[in-house]
Amino acid sequence: MVISQDKVVTIRYTLRVDGEVLDQGELPYLHGHRTIVEGLEEALEGLEAGQSVRVSVPPEKGYGLRDPEGVQVVSRGDFPPEAEVVEGAQFYTQDTSGNPLPLRVTGVQGDEVTIDFNHPLAGDTLDFEVLVSAVRTATAEELEHGHVHNEGGHQH
Ligand code: ZN
Repeated sequence: MVISQDKVVTIRYTLRVDGEVLDQGELPYLHGHRTIVEGLEEALEGLEAGQSVRVSVPPEKGYGLRDPEGVQVVSRGDFPPEAEVVEGAQFYTQDTSGNPLPLRVTGVQGDEVTIDFNHPLAGDTLDFEVLVSAVRTATAEELEHGHVHNEGGHQH
């Protein structure tokens, strides 16, 4: 069975950025629903179980370009008093529509806190090494939900 729209695909992958392994594991996903990065989804189209592929995904088809305006300096007082505001900490604020918006603390100097709204991998070229371990047809329920359900049925 060939990977195409609405197939449930299981991949074993290694993600490297600048030669360093950032992530690896096994992941089932629903093909054609943009639940994995665009450049990787495109590279998998048409493959079958047992095949592997290496692909270099540019930022435009990965986590986007780095936006300099996503970096801001705010005051320690903008955080809740009990929050642990240290470099690397992640917080959530809300965008103008009330959706959760993640941000990372990238520096703390006295009362000045530098925050970054960019995805940690924005601007990076993503080097994927992928083995397709399984391909199957999605169930009607999975298609309705837009994601994969584990064996044994509905988990949520
Ligand atoms: Zn579901």
